[in-house]
Amino acid sequence: MFFKSNFSYSNSSTSYSDLLLEIDSGNIQSIYFFPRKREVDVLYKNGKKEKVPILYNDQLILEKASENNVDLTINNSRKESSAANSFASVGLFLIFVIAIVLILRSTSKFASRALGFGKNKAKFVTIDDVDTRFDDVAGVPEAAEELKEVITFLNQPKKFLDLGAKVPKGVLLIGPPGTGKTLLAKAIAGESGVPFLSIAASEFVELFVGVGASRVRDLFEKAKEKSPCIIFIDEIDSIGRQRGSGIGGGNDEREQTLNQLLTELDGFADNSGIIVIAATNRPDILDSALLRPGRFDRKIEVMLPDLEGRKKILSVHSLSKPLSKNVDLAYWATRTVGFSGADLANLMNESAIHCAREESNSICDNHIESALDKVTLGLRTSVICSPNMKKIIAYNEVGRAIVSAVKNGIDSVDKITILPRSGYIGGYTKINPDEDTVSSGLISKKLLLSKIEIALAGRAAETIVFGKNEITQCSINDISYATNIVREMVTKYGFSVIGPVSLESNNDILIGDGFLRNKSIIADNTYSKIDNEIINITKISLQNSINLILKNRILLEKLVEILLNKETIENKTFKKITFDLLKV
Ligand code: ADP
Ligand code: MG
Repeated sequence: MFFKSNFSYSNSSTSYSDLLLEIDSGNIQSIYFFPRKREVDVLYKNGKKEKVPILYNDQLILEKASENNVDLTINNSRKESSAANSFASVGLFLIFVIAIVLILRSTSKFASRALGFGKNKAKFVTIDDVDTRFDDVAGVPEAAEELKEVITFLNQPKKFLDLGAKVPKGVLLIGPPGTGKTLLAKAIAGESGVPFLSIAASEFVELFVGVGASRVRDLFEKAKEKSPCIIFIDEIDSIGRQRGSGIGGGNDEREQTLNQLLTELDGFADNSGIIVIAATNRPDILDSALLRPGRFDRKIEVMLPDLEGRKKILSVHSLSKPLSKNVDLAYWATRTVGFSGADLANLMNESAIHCAREESNSICDNHIESALDKVTLGLRTSVICSPNMKKIIAYNEVGRAIVSAVKNGIDSVDKITILPRSGYIGGYTKINPDEDTVSSGLISKKLLLSKIEIALAGRAAETIVFGKNEITQCSINDISYATNIVREMVTKYGFSVIGPVSLESNNDILIGDGFLRNKSIIADNTYSKIDNEIINITKISLQNSINLILKNRILLEKLVEILLNKETIENKTFKKITFDLLKV
């Protein structure tokens, strides 16, 4: 390296033999050798410098040079490489040090985070952030009324104190998903004007034991500073589950968190101005200690909306949308039995999207219709099926529609279609759920039997039209649906000749609960009785369906013809055709 920097040599014009001659004639002052290089640097006495190619490991030049007293210098390339090596090792060392520093820094960050785990992550929503009001929550008047009282507890506690009454500490909102529990809690926050601490119960739980408990402590501490205020814990079942349940006897972290929550609920004094509101759709799995008086002693059920409620929710969600004057929301409320508030909000949103797609200015009935199809039936697909397959599907669907019309009235059939949708290949007969059943949750034996007959009607129609040996597996889903209902009728509800005996082989594995619940307690003999009964009921139902469709053969052919031409039969058309022809 130094060598090169000191001298610069011209490339050789001298040949090897010339070099030997030059050495002999004493014109050369010194020669520099490079180990492993096939050239030498030559310095002439007259000052000329030159690189001359030589043989590898050339001995002749060495001999000649020493004979003629030429300076011989071996350039030590080790020196260069060792210098390079030392640079490299210093570099490596530096990288190593930097890496260690980085690792240490990130672990210390991690450590400080681990120590700070207990710090509350609860999102603090102040009154300015919540613009939800009770007006935004429609169709749940009872729940809203009860909750309005909570606001009075907070704003005018004196009214209750003077009468010696204790203000309730906890309110539990119970109801199916999407009925507006979270929305109600937000409305209270919006209306009451007191601070509102909202947290999802799952946020309490971390990998580390004890973190959840300290978060609960933190949350309540914060609440006490802000009193009067509301704490809202969403989806409380994720920590409030019955303790000691689950495989292996439960989960330490969750149980500690729950214990802490129970302690805190007891801990703050009555009338301290804190009210805890929690929401869940699984009240059945909540720990009983959580539900006793003094904790979540008020339970408010938020039910699926009824006809009137659905209409109100639909109108709430159409407020900000340009709805055509011709749209009758009461009609759409009749078409959406069993829909939750969230489903209805989604329906109106989809309608607006359909409207935008068609670039029209206002939402009309046909937009809502396509949105309803999308929400209930799924997306249209372009699976093309053969005319023969279409015919089979059409008979299946019309068969179901006819039996449904006989059993539950013409109104029960919402729509028949043989257009394929994603999720299933065949067609679809949309049957409105029974309003009473949806709202009360009670199902009669008669209704269940009619459900089974409707489900098997596709098979019945095929049997009639194509013959016993030509049936297809088109109704496979309906058959398994029917079988499930029959099994429940026999083993759960006591609707069979076996009598009102619960014969469920419970599959819940709740080992930690103290005993193994899926232990079979049913005798083999009873099993075969159950199976016989299931087969029996199914066969009778199929026969009933066949009889009903045979009676309405003319109607069947007529509807199938229309369905094959138009692909869809709407409720109104169905009513018109069926009204005169249906034989009950
Ligand atoms: P959950 O009961 O599961 O907590 P949410 O309160 O989160 O349900 O409801 C989800 C959405 O559905 C809400 O943001 C709202 O748009 C709509 N929604 C649900 N119930 C109602 C209702 N009763 N009135 C108006 N909108 C509702
Ligand atoms: Mg919710």
